Amino acid sequence: MISIRNLNKTYYGGAPLHVLKGINLEVNKGEFIAIMGASGSGKSTLLNILGILDNYDTGAYYLDDTLISNLTETKAAVLRNRKIGFVFQSFNLITFKNALENVALPLYYKGVRRKKRNMMAMEYLDKMGIATHAHHLPNELSGGQKQRVAIARALIARPQVILADEPTGALDTATSSEMMHLLRQINRDEEMTMLVVTHEHAVADATDKVVHIRDGVIGEIKVNPNPVIRF
Ligand code: ADP
Ligand code: MG
Repeated sequence: MISIRNLNKTYYGGAPLHVLKGINLEVNKGEFIAIMGASGSGKSTLLNILGILDNYDTGAYYLDDTLISNLTETKAAVLRNRKIGFVFQSFNLITFKNALENVALPLYYKGVRRKKRNMMAMEYLDKMGIATHAHHLPNELSGGQKQRVAIARALIARPQVILADEPTGALDTATSSEMMHLLRQINRDEEMTMLVVTHEHAVADATDKVVHIRDGVIGEIKVNPNPVIRF
């Protein structure tokens, strides 16, 4: 469902910085993959390209057999909304909207009516175990609760892939463990494809396949025969 071939990306801000150097990656539907690497190795750059938040220079990126290349922002946004759910380390919730409104937002962009949006948002909050906090603002929620809201928001538009950038980076170990259980459950129940960027071994050990990236090059790809959630 994701195919990346010889992908290159250079940032031209000051001195050109060649960040991704000929990346090849194939991801099948339902795979739960970790992308691991040191800080600055290009993980977020890769994830942003996969999420159509950023462009690449050369190579090819196919998402569901669609070549993602030089799209207008409007087209990129349509594909993003339809196909991709994002989860971030910093949650990226809208601070002045409550949990329910945050989760409902992707449906607003899809043109779903308010009553239906709110009903579905409540359903997803319930699935994530935090329906009781639907009317709380983000600053009234713990880190783990905020990430559950963010995951509900990522899922509500029924994306084909969840892209998570250091989803446990701001969470304590117990909450990180809960979060990995939750992501695994979603992966199993909905056959949801998941790509999780991390530098934590415990997160990588909980996935099916670990892709190592080093200085913009893919190194070892290790299959986990027995994924474990152990923090
Ligand atoms: P990681 O997520 O693995 O820590 P990033 O993909 O964020 O790494 O960054 C890779 C390299 O690219 C780093 O050296 C970073 O400073 C640089 N970089 C990231 N984003 C930009 C940008 N928008 N402009 C210029 N350089 C960037
Ligand atoms: Mg990063």
